[in-house]
Amino acid sequence: MRLIATLTVLFLGSPLWAAAWRADIDAATERANGTVVELRHYFHANPELGNREFNTAKKIAARLRELGFDDIEEGVAHTGVVAILKGGLPGPTVALRADMDGLPVTEQTGLPFASKVTTEWQGEETGVMHACGHDAHMAILLGAADVLASMRDQIPGNVKFICQPADEGPPEGEEGGAELMKKEGVLGGENVPGAIFGLHVFPEVAGVIFYKSEGFLAAADGLSIRVRGVQTHGSMPWRGVDPIAASAQIINSLQTIVSRQVDISQAPAVVTIGSIEGGNRGNIIPDEVRMTGTIRTLDLAMREQVHARIIKTAELVAESFGAVAEVEIDEGYPVTMNNTALTAQMAEELDRVSRGGKAIVVKPIMGAEDFSFFANEIPGLFFGLGVAADDNAQGESAPNHSPYFYVNDAALPHGVRALSSLALAWLHAQ
Ligand SMILES: [Zn+2]
Ligand SMILES: [Zn+2]
Repeated sequence: MRLIATLTVLFLGSPLWAAAWRADIDAATERANGTVVELRHYFHANPELGNREFNTAKKIAARLRELGFDDIEEGVAHTGVVAILKGGLPGPTVALRADMDGLPVTEQTGLPFASKVTTEWQGEETGVMHACGHDAHMAILLGAADVLASMRDQIPGNVKFICQPADEGPPEGEEGGAELMKKEGVLGGENVPGAIFGLHVFPEVAGVIFYKSEGFLAAADGLSIRVRGVQTHGSMPWRGVDPIAASAQIINSLQTIVSRQVDISQAPAVVTIGSIEGGNRGNIIPDEVRMTGTIRTLDLAMREQVHARIIKTAELVAESFGAVAEVEIDEGYPVTMNNTALTAQMAEELDRVSRGGKAIVVKPIMGAEDFSFFANEIPGLFFGLGVAADDNAQGESAPNHSPYFYVNDAALPHGVRALSSLALAWLHAQ
């Protein structure tokens, strides 16, 4: 029994047949790297906002055609591109996903391929930048398409490449992103994927891969609160109801939800008020204050508990002032859940392709990803890839969404090897 167990572990751990395709992936990644870097710089210099990735989509589709894909669907969920690589051997389908959108950020990196693109965003002229690294995600995905296409004959099944618009959220009043792609049947049809893989770049050591099983990224819900009072002269607050004083109290009380009312020893949570607006001059107490914020949780029960407490706190604190609070919670992205069995099964691949030969298991990250909509439907594994500049000390690099966000090209081949290896390892394991 013991011997058999050991043999099984050995077989699963490093089967002989795996050595060949792994070596092929590594060689093909090296060959593809020049193009991957070029594509990354192209996407970086030409960013587009969510649901407006028209040129980006064209570039992706053109590259996939160059690689010999003949099954390319464009215009999915507005600007998404979905393509299937049919392997030479029969087998199931696995999906790889990258997001395509840039952000309304004016780039300050000073790189030779820095974005000079501007556009109108919510009525104002703004720069556009790939400040979240989705340029790297697309280049890496196309790198994996290149690598796997060159090994087509040995692939036991199909690989579905999903280029997804609007991860950062569609413009107001529009649908978009992974949720809309799902609605449009991306995970259905003729080739239903049995698993999906994706990655996100972060300003950590370049080439290092990090992940965790189960809740990896948080659920993100939007919060807006309208506090209604009664307008009066600033010198006579007793003649009205002051929504500004009520709002100050509401904000402070909201901060006791995470610190005092939920069990944060089980999972972290965040409640942030990020904008507040009310009044127009110092001697008028206005009739209304509006606040918006974000709620991050990693556990479904806690998510519901935090929502209920926010509503109760805002409403009752306002009432104690004689004001009225109207709370709206806009359920956003679910928790990005990494399938336990799939994560355990793929740990060895992630180790192999990570810089230093060992991927790092981390604590959850409070950012959110709409990859979660896919991973709620089929087993998914989403992981992080470090892209910081080589000479930056830990914690010194600009964060995602900063106008100084930087992607180190040296990290790209680690991403290409990761996505290619995960797809092939999964197909071989079926
Ligand atoms: Zn982002
Ligand atoms: Zn992002």
